Amino acid sequence: MIVTRFAPSPTGYLHLGHAFAAFNAWNRARAANGRFLLRLEDIDPGRCRKEYADAIQEDLAWLGLDWDGPVRVQSRQMADYRRVLDSLADRGLTYPCFCTRTDIAAASEASHGPDSAPLYPGTCRMLSAAERQDRIGAGERFAVRLDMASARRPGLLFHEAGEGPVTCHPERFGDVVLARKDAPASYHLCVTHDDAIQGVTLVTRGADLKAATDLHRLLQALMGWPTPVYAHHRLLTDDAGRRLAKRDKARTLRTMRSEGLAAQDVLERLNQSQYCQRP
Ligand code: GLU
Repeated sequence: MIVTRFAPSPTGYLHLGHAFAAFNAWNRARAANGRFLLRLEDIDPGRCRKEYADAIQEDLAWLGLDWDGPVRVQSRQMADYRRVLDSLADRGLTYPCFCTRTDIAAASEASHGPDSAPLYPGTCRMLSAAERQDRIGAGERFAVRLDMASARRPGLLFHEAGEGPVTCHPERFGDVVLARKDAPASYHLCVTHDDAIQGVTLVTRGADLKAATDLHRLLQALMGWPTPVYAHHRLLTDDAGRRLAKRDKARTLRTMRSEGLAAQDVLERLNQSQYCQRP
């Protein structure tokens, strides 16, 4: 059975771009008599708000995009993510990183990974076990990084719907962060874990996340999780060709609704070419 999901982060009100992503996932599931899941990716305590989480559910219901089963709220699942981090650490595939953002920016001399995070030069990978223990014991805060050189698995592929097999190059991300100093688990870890344990078979999401799939595929290989099929869709843009974002207040679903637009009009707008950036 086909299982899709919509997995927004409650950091603002949903706009037309979110509606497009949600509609895509919902439509694929409903057309195949499958299941459509809703997940709130609220692991970043500094940016996520309950008000937005509530609004997401209200806006989706208004659009008529109904979901199956309970909503999974990531901030309530930290023990699950901890177990994954422990499993990787036990196998020597991660290490604690004490560097500050400034240290990293200075040392990495502006080389960036596909997610535009600076590529980590590996400073803390070189620390001895004793030094790590001392610093942790002294209460120094640390992030957890994947040791890409030990973790990489050559020859990984994922299947992109309508395209075929895609060869993965997760090493382009360098020693990626799996848990931040201020958030106990990263997007990459949580999204991959949750797609696996929720039995998602088809991940539909924006083309901006396609590069990250290489990393997600690696985590699946390391953890023995199944690999769903991926369908990355085009991103909606404004009249100037810029990707829709939180700044586009006029295109939030709330604003459209308060201006008297019907849900059906919104869904029709999604088919209008001026909002669509062709892949
Ligand atoms: N939570 C992510 C976002 O709001 C989407 C994750 C995904 O679809 O993989 O951008």
